[in-house]
Amino acid sequence: MSAEDYHQLPTFIKEISSQCKEHQERFERYCYFHVCLCCVQCITDKHQKCQDIKPRSVILNQVKSSASVPLFEKDLKNLKRNLDKALKYMKKRISANNTKKTEAVDEIRHMTKLIDDFLNELEQTILDDLESKHSKLKSEMVILVQQMEQRAVQINQLQVEFTKMTQYATDLQMYVGLKEMRKLHQSNKIYRRFKTGRPI
Ligand SMILES: [Zn+2]
Ligand SMILES: [Zn+2]
Repeated sequence: MSAEDYHQLPTFIKEISSQCKEHQERFERYCYFHVCLCCVQCITDKHQKCQDIKPRSVILNQVKSSASVPLFEKDLKNLKRNLDKALKYMKKRISANNTKKTEAVDEIRHMTKLIDDFLNELEQTILDDLESKHSKLKSEMVILVQQMEQRAVQINQLQVEFTKMTQYATDLQMYVGLKEMRKLHQSNKIYRRFKTGRPI
């Protein structure tokens, strides 16, 4: 392996040593029970009772000749393909969600405007109606007040005439005059009805 090739290896691979870090001795064996490489000292310390220990050359040759390398390569490829697919799907969903959110905001604004327009129109209709009814009632009351003022003048006159009649008229004149005055009094109905609250 050239120095250039060696530098292209991932760091964690470069850090793998053929020496045991604990005892600073070369790995000589492989323990199948603990699934690890061991130096002579390791075997003495921790693997005394382990049955299945083989020289490291046996396990290293097995790796090279086994199908695990191409299988792992295939697994990695599959994993990468699935991940790319999932990533593409997620990005599509994010974009679709953004579009849906924008659409929802537009819809809410549109609905709010419709409700505002409707309420404004309703308010205007009610105000117009109120204005027209108030104006009609006001003009009717003004007319009524004018009529009542005319009647007041007439009644004043009637009172004056009645007083004169009681002082100066004959019995016959009193009889006919009272009848005429009653007629005039009757014509004050409008005022009387208004006073008692009955409809005109
Ligand atoms: Zn060791
Ligand atoms: Zn062991």
